[in-house]
Amino acid sequence: MAESINFIEQIINEELEAGKFEERGNKIVTRFPPEPNGYLHIGHCKSLCINFGVKEKYGGECNLRFDDTNPAKETEEFAQSIIDSLDWLGFSYDRILYASDYYDRMYEIAEKMISDGNAYVCDLSAEEITETRGTLTEPGKESPYRNRTVEENLKLFREMKAGKYADGEKVLRAKIDMASPNINMRDPILYRVAHVSHYRTGDKWCIYPMYDFAHPIEDAIEGITHSICTLEFEDHRPLYNWVVEHSGFAAPLPRQIEFARLNLTNTVMSKRYLKKLVEEGKVHGWDDPRMPTLAGLKNRGVPPTALKNFCNLIGVSKANSECQYSYLEACIREYLNENAERAMAVIDPLKLTITNYEGEEELEFDVNQFKPELGKRKVTFGKTLYIERSDFSLNPPPKYFRLKVGGVVRLKSAYIVRCDGYRTDEEGNVTEVLCTYLPDSRSGSDVSGVKAKGVIHWVNAERAVDAVIKQYEPLLKDAAYPGQDFSERMNEDSEHIFYGKAEPYLAEKEEQSFQLMRTGYYKTCREEGKLCLSEIVSLKDNFNK
Ligand code: ATP
Ligand code: MG
Repeated sequence: MAESINFIEQIINEELEAGKFEERGNKIVTRFPPEPNGYLHIGHCKSLCINFGVKEKYGGECNLRFDDTNPAKETEEFAQSIIDSLDWLGFSYDRILYASDYYDRMYEIAEKMISDGNAYVCDLSAEEITETRGTLTEPGKESPYRNRTVEENLKLFREMKAGKYADGEKVLRAKIDMASPNINMRDPILYRVAHVSHYRTGDKWCIYPMYDFAHPIEDAIEGITHSICTLEFEDHRPLYNWVVEHSGFAAPLPRQIEFARLNLTNTVMSKRYLKKLVEEGKVHGWDDPRMPTLAGLKNRGVPPTALKNFCNLIGVSKANSECQYSYLEACIREYLNENAERAMAVIDPLKLTITNYEGEEELEFDVNQFKPELGKRKVTFGKTLYIERSDFSLNPPPKYFRLKVGGVVRLKSAYIVRCDGYRTDEEGNVTEVLCTYLPDSRSGSDVSGVKAKGVIHWVNAERAVDAVIKQYEPLLKDAAYPGQDFSERMNEDSEHIFYGKAEPYLAEKEEQSFQLMRTGYYKTCREEGKLCLSEIVSLKDNFNK
């Protein structure tokens, strides 16, 4: 298969050809820079695939760097969850680094910028700064503090660091151009006062660098060649370049490249919103199987390879778009179809008794028909079985090939049975189906001459175990109008619980994915000592019906 090249790799190839990185042995270095203010989601997986994809393609390096410059929202728990998610996906980073380790260096650079006349301490309030920033059509107004001397600026900045000022009282601003057509270049804030403890540096600092100042410096310190980020940072690129150019780093300087973030239908892809779902108790936690977080997908039983396949298949683009959730599901289904073991479970059990059968026997079916090397697995057949209630009909529509009175059906990997009658309770609900089996119709050696058009799954009632079965719907309904807020689109009924019956084999397997034949893909787990079958993905696409 020809290797496809995305636009980022195209840029890198051109730079390599032009000899841009010759002095550093043509080593390409990227980084994945999450803020530890929440769990990672599928969108981050896309970013991971791009950054680690470049690492692999060019034999380069990729750092995991925590962009922890906003202490009020960051925690150790979040940082650990990010490490766990990368491990789960199998991305091996070359180093774990923390922006907070560079605070001293950043502070020095800020002093250098002041000394070079490129930064000043400003006393305007946040509102005043916003008000004087101008608009897309009007230039901004220069701050009255813009022309403080270097000495005064240094003194004030050191006082900011020493804790002399309250939050918001003073900021350090870059001195660039209040008339720049790019609003980000209109004397952006570089440092703010925040008397907040940091989860790593404690109370060492009461001033913290702003993202636009910190991020380019982090990249430059680490020798990142390509700082890959999402499109909303495109307008920040001139500032990114300004910061690295005025910080005193040697070439080659890191280059910011933007790509379109991944958006998916029927889910939320923003840590802020996901956090809200967790805090408001709309889900059971960050790793709820309905969550688009990587912890949620892991808990759901989604194979990491399927997720990475999805991210690589949708490609890297410069244009924002929304990807169908069903496409992700198709990738999961494809992987599990090829790899998952087959088993049987019944979600809504109806008893079936074979009146002319006595005893028990072992039958077998393929572990996975696409993997003959896995061989066959035995399953015990008997006189009383459970079938799916929906596989029996008293009022069958035309072309109903499942079980009906007088009709025949094949029990998966077993015999053909004919339905002779049924029993009901006082209210008329069917409680038991009565059948006879055709002894010479055994799967694999059927000489009965009878043709059964339908095949249904079953479990042996004598041996089956109870199973809690969970099915899920998307967290969000389709938007009724463009821009509709997610809170109005919440699907309040997205988790469904059933009490079914499963092959005992399933109870022996923990945290394993199965294709429950004719039902869907499920993960086995234990809940309060009981078998739980938790839906990974449905058997067929019932999304776009
Ligand atoms: P969110 O907007 O969900 O809160 P974020 O951008 O604040 O996410 P970061 O921790 O800053 O999250 O993200 C780390 C990296 O992942 C960044 O480079 C960011 O651009 C990238 N990223 C975040 N969301 C997506 C997405 N939906 N698609 C692709 N990349 C993403
Ligand atoms: Mg961010």
